[in-house]
Amino acid sequence: MEKMQQIVGRARAAFNSGRCRSLEFRMQQLKAVERMVREKEKEIMAAIKADLHKSGVNAYSHEILTVLRELALAMDELPSWAAPQPVQKNLLTMRDEAYICYEPLGVVLIIGAWNYPFVLVMQPLIGAIAAGNAVVVKPSELSENVAQLVADLLPQYLDQELYPVVTGGVPETTELLKQRFDHILYTGNSAVGKIVMAAAAKHLTPVTLELGGKSPCYIDKDCDLAVACRRITWGKYMNCGQTCIAPDYVLCDPSIQSEVVENIKATLQEFYGEDVKSSPDYERIINKRHFKRILGLLEGQKIAYGGETDEASCFIAPTVLTDVSPESKVMEEEIFGPVLPILTVKSVDEAIEFINHREKPLALYVFSNNKKLIKRVISETSSGGVTGNDVIMHFFLSTLPFGGVGNSGMGAYHAKHTFETFSHRRSCLIKDLKVEVVTKLRHPPGSQKKVDWAEFFLLKQCNKGRVGLLILALLGIVAAAVAKVTFGSLLSA
Ligand code: NAD
Repeated sequence: MEKMQQIVGRARAAFNSGRCRSLEFRMQQLKAVERMVREKEKEIMAAIKADLHKSGVNAYSHEILTVLRELALAMDELPSWAAPQPVQKNLLTMRDEAYICYEPLGVVLIIGAWNYPFVLVMQPLIGAIAAGNAVVVKPSELSENVAQLVADLLPQYLDQELYPVVTGGVPETTELLKQRFDHILYTGNSAVGKIVMAAAAKHLTPVTLELGGKSPCYIDKDCDLAVACRRITWGKYMNCGQTCIAPDYVLCDPSIQSEVVENIKATLQEFYGEDVKSSPDYERIINKRHFKRILGLLEGQKIAYGGETDEASCFIAPTVLTDVSPESKVMEEEIFGPVLPILTVKSVDEAIEFINHREKPLALYVFSNNKKLIKRVISETSSGGVTGNDVIMHFFLSTLPFGGVGNSGMGAYHAKHTFETFSHRRSCLIKDLKVEVVTKLRHPPGSQKKVDWAEFFLLKQCNKGRVGLLILALLGIVAAAVAKVTFGSLLSA
């Protein structure tokens, strides 16, 4: 308890010192993060391998590259993200300065999950530093090697008081959540998301919840099945199915179900060879608890492909289930493992109804040659994000905000969106002390004439760019002159 209070207290004192406000300081810290990632690349890949049995190539492309890209973007764009944004004015404020100013929130907390253990703390951290905050980082204890490495490395490269790392599990996080933060970004499951939100509510702390759920994937009959299944296979089985936006299940017409299975089978053999277990590209389940949970989901199911397991190494082969009932256990919870159930639906209408009958998912995928059908599915459903004719890829387009909706989360981040998540958009209006005659319109005593003039000033807004502004200026001058004449006697009366 004492310890958490001290850590957060030190971070707050460091924030209050004002040293992380300047853009130079933020940029310097971002450069230090970049140096850390480049210099410790091998250690980071080794820790990811120890936690998830991930090859160096995959660790680099799934995690390190994502972090480096986020850093490059933040360092390039920070001056424009942080610049005051002028806003449109009305007749009453045309002589004034009006803008939005992005200011840091204070001390923020980032709680990461284990499935992409490095990215899930570093990506939000980059945006939080860019926005000028002090940041307490809490990596997941389940990916213990990465957690320890992050705790060892950050203090070697960054300001130690502003960016402390707390390791540990439920007891430590529970204590940490008793402290007051100015924002919490949590990544993990929805049940813990509720605990985090309840703890945050005690301090009126805003939260970003990056949660999960069952992300559906609809395959239309009018579709290149070989291409669709190749893309789906990649997104489903990468990281052994432990990806928050992996397609959780497939919906398709009964007439194409066996062709879908055949295409996935062929792709799996192409990706991982005949012996998946010895493929360097295939990961393992994080621990025995999750291994057993996933095995439980296979009970009573028709396995069309895969199904081999090895408890000692937490290995579950890429598995496809067919003719799955919507009522079965595998359809009750997010699978978060290499098991792909296929459910048949007779039409796109039935697929839409199926999706809408359940919690709003984090991602939604739809494959079709018919773009109109894709747009229809998008407009008649809801999800955190969508990719049409591919999977996962909306995550990688940094101009798109990444986050959930409803049960899959709230708020979003990535690149500029992270900067905005960790900033307060402060409304700034600086008036001058002239044209008091107009100001007096709002002062008592009230009269119908004053209301009429207020209406004129407030409702005659021009939205037509430069020409509009010119007209606005002319109107203002005329209005001010008229007001002076009209109100001169009225206001002095
Ligand atoms: P996890 O077990 O690592 O838990 C996440 C964090 O919550 C950890 O840091 C852990 O210490 C903390 N925690 C756990 N129990 C707690 C408690 N009782 N009180 C306070 N803190 C607690 O990760 P997980 O929940 O197994 O993660 C998997 C889930 O996360 C899946 O649902 C997945 O879809 C989702 N996920 C979402 C995203 C996203 O960006 N939206 C990314 C990755 C994972």
